[in-house]
Amino acid sequence: MRWSHTLIPTLKEVPADAEVPSHRLMLRAGLVRQVMAGAYTYLPLGWRAVQKAAAIVREEMEAAGAAELHFPAMSPIELWERSGRREAFGNVLLNFAFPRGDRKVHVALGPTHEEPITDLIKQSVSSYKQLPLTLFQIQTKFRNEERPRFGVLRTSEFLMKDAYSFGTDVEQLNASYDAMYAAYCRIFERCGIPYLAVEAESGPIGGDASHEFMIPAENGEDAVVHCEASGYAANLERAETGRKPPKIEVPANAPVAVTVDTPGVTTIEAVCELLGVAPEQTLKTLLYTADAGTDGEKTVAVLVRGDHEANEGKIRRAVGAKTLALADEATVQRVTGAPVGFAGPVGLTGVTLLADHDAVTVQPAVVGANAADKHTKGVCCGRDWTVETTHDLRDARAGDPDPKSGGPMTLVRGIEVGHVFKLGTKYSDALGAEFLGEDQKRRSIVMGCYGIGINRIVAGAIETSHDDRGIIWPKGIAPYQCHVIPLDVQDAEVMSLAEQFHDELQAAGVDCLLDDRKERPGVKFADADLIGLPTRITIGKRGLKDGVVEVKRRTDAEAETLAPDAAVARVR
Ligand code: ATP
Ligand code: MG
Ligand code: MG
Ligand code: MG
Repeated sequence: MRWSHTLIPTLKEVPADAEVPSHRLMLRAGLVRQVMAGAYTYLPLGWRAVQKAAAIVREEMEAAGAAELHFPAMSPIELWERSGRREAFGNVLLNFAFPRGDRKVHVALGPTHEEPITDLIKQSVSSYKQLPLTLFQIQTKFRNEERPRFGVLRTSEFLMKDAYSFGTDVEQLNASYDAMYAAYCRIFERCGIPYLAVEAESGPIGGDASHEFMIPAENGEDAVVHCEASGYAANLERAETGRKPPKIEVPANAPVAVTVDTPGVTTIEAVCELLGVAPEQTLKTLLYTADAGTDGEKTVAVLVRGDHEANEGKIRRAVGAKTLALADEATVQRVTGAPVGFAGPVGLTGVTLLADHDAVTVQPAVVGANAADKHTKGVCCGRDWTVETTHDLRDARAGDPDPKSGGPMTLVRGIEVGHVFKLGTKYSDALGAEFLGEDQKRRSIVMGCYGIGINRIVAGAIETSHDDRGIIWPKGIAPYQCHVIPLDVQDAEVMSLAEQFHDELQAAGVDCLLDDRKERPGVKFADADLIGLPTRITIGKRGLKDGVVEVKRRTDAEAETLAPDAAVARVR
């Protein structure tokens, strides 16, 4: 492809409203343009990257035994009413009515496609002999996101690969889930993006029923606790959205140290509700001896993180000013002689109970949890894991042993790029998708769903792979592999060699962009760095006199000088 035949409107200026590197670079490199908030046009370079990512996804889905189909974005609103998701999605579900003859047709634009595909399967599958089955599509989704942001990372219209598995039982579901999980790992490896598979909200099936694939990135909207040594990782999303950890039994007169750092739990009443105890009694039990402070036998300490000052007044009023001592972690530790439970990464969530401090036993704690058996349990900050905010897993430092593996836990931010989920029979029950078993009994089909944000693959790759000059494309999804730059486009010899390179490489299956613009070398080099194709070949009059051209990888500082034939061979 010649530069002059395509549209690559690169920008020198950094767009003012673009907050994150991928957004800035996608605008500057001429990959996308905004049409309205949450809706972007992909220009030729950007669209090629999207198509490369989609091709990898498609190949790996097929290799994992999934068959491609394609749904319309529109479906009747009744389907979403029957599943209960018209209400559950609320404003996120784009839907509207339009006249057809003297009727009104009310449609929803799919934010995902469980409802339409379950309805299809209900009509097309009737016997266990047709199962298991996994189907997928790469299709446009609509979500009226409350806050579209970060360029194409969160938009109202986006491209998703969504796959759905249908099976007779949990064994079949598990096999399909594992196949999808493995395919996801291959997809993200081939796309050249770093990823972390993290435990996520488990939903109706419970247990190990949902994983998100996260691209570790400073600007990610999700927070994840991660232990590099054990590979354990879990999303703190539920905690951040304020869902409460499960209730914890507190023995009536047990000496207890409580630390609370759960969003929304900023009052003592809320603490008690969280603990499942009556406020009055508990306040006395929990706090009455708080001022003992130094009494090793019966000390109780209360740490209310966050809004200390606001809470102090309430607690004082509740128990009487004299009796209150708000202890800090060091005090509790000194007094109880026990390691101090820590309420999860600061600003996130968690409740930790220390009971029976003489025996230095740590009661099961729940940190950053959204399900009873998920996330970190029975852990102590400092003893079991360390809290540190690191934006790059490679920077994770060794620390104290974590409960599973002996490695440190770190807190990382991530961009959710994929999600695999064991649905069970939620949709097949709601929409009546049943099969006849070998035993002649009718049962609901057991489903799984598996999503990947294609746009997020592209933006996520740029977010994690760039420098101050521009994008550094991973090979797997680069719009073109090779950038051929003739410096003197009016020189016949230079131009004919450039065209020859282009044609030979194309014929060898290496996509090429030929910068045939009549621009200064400085402009061409700056644009080449900005659009960041993996390899560039520069051809100049001066070099040709010595029979050489230059080959430079985007990741290398220096160019190599090679004879023309050797240059082509090097790029191939
Ligand atoms: P998020 O937590 O970021 O809102 P989600 O959990 O709502 O994402 P899913 O319903 O799991 O998203 O959809 C599957 C995939 O679709 C996500 O993993 C993500 O890659 C992509 N995706 C979801 N919402 C958007 C969006 N608004 N813009 C672009 N991609 C999206
Ligand atoms: Mg969402
Ligand atoms: Mg999510
Ligand atoms: Mg998700």
